[in-house]
Amino acid sequence: MNGNARIVVGILALLVILGVALLIYTKLKEDVSVTPPPTPEPVVTEEPTPSYPLIRTIGSSVEGRPIEAYTYGTGGTHLLFIGGIHGGYEWNSVLLAYEFIDHLGDGTTVPPELTLTVIPSLNPDGVFKVVGKEGRFARADVPTGTDTSVGRFNANGIDLNRNFACKWQPESSWRGKTVSAGTEAFSEPEAKALRDLVTEIAPAAVVFWHSKANAVYASECTEGILPGTRTLMDTYATAASYPAVDTFDAYPVTGDAEGWLASIGIPAITVELSSHESIEFERNLLGFSALLEHYKTAK
Ligand SMILES: [Zn+2]
Repeated sequence: MNGNARIVVGILALLVILGVALLIYTKLKEDVSVTPPPTPEPVVTEEPTPSYPLIRTIGSSVEGRPIEAYTYGTGGTHLLFIGGIHGGYEWNSVLLAYEFIDHLGDGTTVPPELTLTVIPSLNPDGVFKVVGKEGRFARADVPTGTDTSVGRFNANGIDLNRNFACKWQPESSWRGKTVSAGTEAFSEPEAKALRDLVTEIAPAAVVFWHSKANAVYASECTEGILPGTRTLMDTYATAASYPAVDTFDAYPVTGDAEGWLASIGIPAITVELSSHESIEFERNLLGFSALLEHYKTAK
């Protein structure tokens, strides 16, 4: 090969190399310039979807345990349900209240006219004394064969259902025994928490779950049974198949929460389950549902 031929071959080789390089470059460029899939636009809703229940702490027990309230719905008529004022002595009333919380779920079944609040455990220190657990517990956590009566009181040894402002006295009674009712009405933080919530929400009716007298009791302080209380009692008792009883007269009671509510014009009943162990959810659901039916149209 002479000099010119070498140059031509050299240029041709160079062109081939350049061509290949250009092809590779173009291919690579295509790869990296592939448009990524478009990011989906976030769906903007006009109103944030409300999530229920609203769970809030309405106070703390003597030993600092939170007292929680679960609220469902935004209707104008507010109903309040309370478990466990007598703590671990009536632990089944706490589990019943938690079953209602499970039943209410996200609150979508609450009629639009109503707002419901459930306080599952008003005396958490009393529950802890018997069950040994914070917050929610299961039936299996409850020891069997132990004396649960110590769990009736709060951590100051006070019967909370004697600490309210209706005929309050420093000592009251429970099944013939003397019990401490605190240094004054609402001396106990658990009673204060309930008083403050009632003052805030002004419930149309209040239901307390207790055990084990197997009846629904009306309430009064000094002015007799409110007409609304009688309707409340009869509606719940009939639907849930408990006897309806005007007056609890097994022993004299002072400073009870229901009596205080009566004194400020709020209908309240005591629902006593038939034993200290049974939950009785199905029949109480019938009573509860009857109340919802009644109050969604009641004026
Ligand atoms: Zn009780």
